[in-house]
Amino acid sequence: MIYYDFHIHSALSPCGDKDMTPNNMVNMASIIGLDAIAITDHNSVGNVRAAMKVGEQVGVKVLAGMEVETAEEIHVLTLYETIEAAEEVAKKVYAALPDIKNRPEIFGNQYYMDENDNIVGEEEKLLISPTSIQVEDLALLVKSVGGLVFPAHVDRHSYSILTNLGFIPENLIIDGIEISKKVGDVEAYIESRPDLKQYLYLRNSDAHYLTDIAEKDAFIAENSITELFKRRAK
Ligand SMILES: [Zn+2]
Ligand SMILES: [Zn+2]
Repeated sequence: MIYYDFHIHSALSPCGDKDMTPNNMVNMASIIGLDAIAITDHNSVGNVRAAMKVGEQVGVKVLAGMEVETAEEIHVLTLYETIEAAEEVAKKVYAALPDIKNRPEIFGNQYYMDENDNIVGEEEKLLISPTSIQVEDLALLVKSVGGLVFPAHVDRHSYSILTNLGFIPENLIIDGIEISKKVGDVEAYIESRPDLKQYLYLRNSDAHYLTDIAEKDAFIAENSITELFKRRAK
């Protein structure tokens, strides 16, 4: 059993707290007893390498991830087996972001950090904009590098595929869905949306603050994360 939280924002996300440093995130996960986490900033993987290094020291598996905003303003959680695969997608995602400068006084700072939590740079382009990539194309892009695709927080009213499209398109290649932690009774929720029954679902914190990082309750039954990557998309 792997206790996980695969949706955590670092200080690179403008809305992420500046205390969401590589060491703080990984150590918090370790204290809680999580086996695996993913760092999933908005439209960037810039702090993943640093968090992975800390994860190796601390003994928490850190997956490369990214929460991509599509042209339809849908948030999609993407996870990768390697940082190289993640960076390949991130390069295209970054290029598909509009050229809008971040205004830290309004949106918050976008800090790049190293494995010692030093601020090594600041991203100037605003990362919380929709990209020009449509959801189907994003899924194809992520699958082309062997990544995993999960429409994020499908139960929410904003940035959710179910809100913005009303349904999950048949031809969309996904590995599952993310149901947010705010849904207390997940069984009842799925019961109310029979179209969701076919999907594997993840329950993550979508943490922007250290105290948001998920309790040790959600787990994947697979005996290794590799199994998740072997799972073929529907
Ligand atoms: Zn989101
Ligand atoms: Zn998020």
